[in-house]
Amino acid sequence: MSTCQHTIARPVSVAGMGLHSGQRVHMRLLPAPAGHGIRFVRTDTPQPVEIPASHRYVSSTSHATVLARSGVAVGTVEHVMAALSGLAIDNCRIEINGPELPILDGSAEPLVSLLRDTAGRCSQEAERRYLQVTRPFAWEEGESSIMVEPFAGFKITCSIDFPHRLIRQQELVLTLNPRTFANRIAPARTFGFLEQIEMLRQNGLALGGSLENAVVLDRFGVLNEEGLRFADEFVRHKLLDCIGDLALLGHPMQGHVVVRKAGHTQHAAFVRALARQTDCWRLTKRPEAACPHRAQHPLPVLPAAPGLAAFRPVVIGKPAF
Ligand SMILES: [Zn+2]
Repeated sequence: MSTCQHTIARPVSVAGMGLHSGQRVHMRLLPAPAGHGIRFVRTDTPQPVEIPASHRYVSSTSHATVLARSGVAVGTVEHVMAALSGLAIDNCRIEINGPELPILDGSAEPLVSLLRDTAGRCSQEAERRYLQVTRPFAWEEGESSIMVEPFAGFKITCSIDFPHRLIRQQELVLTLNPRTFANRIAPARTFGFLEQIEMLRQNGLALGGSLENAVVLDRFGVLNEEGLRFADEFVRHKLLDCIGDLALLGHPMQGHVVVRKAGHTQHAAFVRALARQTDCWRLTKRPEAACPHRAQHPLPVLPAAPGLAAFRPVVIGKPAF
């Protein structure tokens, strides 16, 4: 069994603010040919600069994953990468007129809505090439560890441990397909601690952060009026970040990834190490006993998660076709 590559059916746009830069930007997602992969294009530079969504171009992982090429960067790529990977969209050109992708509501839900309800997905005349894990591989640093083992599908076990009464230890095990991603992972928002926000701002980070685009915690609880979307929203968002960072491998993964107490820096180090460890995986068009959901083309049509009804992405311009 094999599955074909997909791109989006029509271009879509969204405007918003960068979480760290605080800069307002427009982002356009465009269909791309088979084999193109995901590529970002900075359009506000004298010449457009194209940056492939690959671990080879990771330039910084401090509080977000930043890609750079020829001195031109595009920051906070992880949620867009997770949305595309989660919905099994292989090929897309992403134009952006600023240094950081819009944070929207801090989750991948607005992007999933935009891709699923407006852009649509279309199949292409080329087969996907999966990165199939053939032998276990483990990476460790301090308290963080990431390992991967063979699995017929794409599964992530993610665990976190924060000394906060609302978080503590949380673990989530999920076999991924577009439906589980859209339902259980995409709505989970990024989070931060009030006591750290001032320090981040002094370092030029979180300048666009607000209760509109992040869950903010003080010592006692959540400051957002909306509360939490899931009791374990924190580990769900970590899993979302992990999907986005793993997508920088450039191929959909077939394997079970076990992530403990990791963030963007650890994800990037793991991805680099795994890419080099060529005796632990192979590229294949026919993953063994692939999850049948992956072969089904229609994107899931799902009710909005609680609390999401008010958010509608800004779509600029009419679809070209
Ligand atoms: Zn995130």
